[in-house]
Amino acid sequence: MTEARTAIVTGAARGIGAAVAERLASDGFKVAVVDLDEAACQNVVDKIKESGGEALAVGCDVSNEEAVNAAVERIASELGAPTGLINNAGVLRDNLLFKMSADDWDTVMNVHLRGSFLMTRATQKYMTEAKFGRVVNLSSTSALGNRGQANYAAAKAGLQGFTKTLAIELGKFGITANAIAPGFIVTDMTAATAERVGMDFDEFQKAAATQIPVARVGRPDDIAAAASFFCREDAGFVSGQVLYVAGGPKD
Ligand code: NAP
Repeated sequence: MTEARTAIVTGAARGIGAAVAERLASDGFKVAVVDLDEAACQNVVDKIKESGGEALAVGCDVSNEEAVNAAVERIASELGAPTGLINNAGVLRDNLLFKMSADDWDTVMNVHLRGSFLMTRATQKYMTEAKFGRVVNLSSTSALGNRGQANYAAAKAGLQGFTKTLAIELGKFGITANAIAPGFIVTDMTAATAERVGMDFDEFQKAAATQIPVARVGRPDDIAAAASFFCREDAGFVSGQVLYVAGGPKD
């Protein structure tokens, strides 16, 4: 990389987002660590700075249009024009369809789909100006359907269509858009799922691993490695793809 580029990672205070932020910083990006609570981002920012990188903590609800526009402007002026964007912020509101509230449907759509749309729209102007951009959206194996996740599955499948459309519209500006669809990754999100189904988290992981061809559950670093690839300068001919990172074939 000739000059340090700026990348934004949403939902980066913990879990997959934190691992992606740290990985992109070690790849040479200046990283905006975005999450709901700005103070919660500080740990990740400190780790990046201790390793010699540059990072900025930014509090922002990605589903809030004004907050997103203000956050992206701030990142551009304090860190540099963002030409990398990882739409990772996410929530679960699992329930069987007949018990799912409209609020639970809307919350999931707002964070995953509206959030990714707002962040990408606010960031694309910097990418088109730079004639370079890398957008990576976090989908999920749940996009293929998953009991108790009608809202989440629809949002994650929606992100795949969003990704392919970005690739088509923005390709001529040197911008790629790809999606990563993780399988089971050990984070607070999967810990919450274990709690919801009444299982000890270790037992839950062991049970999940028996269903995964590589015979282990995934780690945030597994997803960070895939995001790092999509953000590379020399990955410019890879666009509109959905990469299942699930320890085996999924689609
Ligand atoms: P996580 O540990 O729950 O972290 C998600 C982060 O997103 C949290 O820090 C959360 O903040 C933040 N967030 C939630 N709503 C937000 C909003 N409106 N604006 C800004 N930030 C927000 O989840 P994860 O497991 O790392 O998952 C990261 C992404 O990968 C998600 O999109 C998820 O759907 C996807 N994914 C995960 C798995 C898996 O097995 N873990 C599998 C497939 C896909 P708070 O802590 O303040 O709520």
